[in-house]
Amino acid sequence: MSLVFPKTAAIEMTKEKIMLNCDTCGNPYQEGPHRYEGHKLHRYGGIMVCDGCWQGNHDGWNPHFEPILLGILKEKGLPVPERNEQGLLPRE
Ligand SMILES: [Zn+2]
Repeated sequence: MSLVFPKTAAIEMTKEKIMLNCDTCGNPYQEGPHRYEGHKLHRYGGIMVCDGCWQGNHDGWNPHFEPILLGILKEKGLPVPERNEQGLLPRE
């Protein structure tokens, strides 16, 4: 038995993209349907960042983003994570 969706419903689903803005760089990214580019940062209170930020800062956050991240931690009352070997804030 297979589940068949009406064709019109499939078209509706691809037409409506859910766009959100990255919490660190501010650029829009797609968060469904079909494509999910956001990454959740649990250590930073569950903020969502785009795939570009996620891939580009795999070694730790570029110092350029530190004021934003530290601001988020302060706002949420969270501790600042221990820095990695490069002296950068950990990505996740
Ligand atoms: Zn971003």
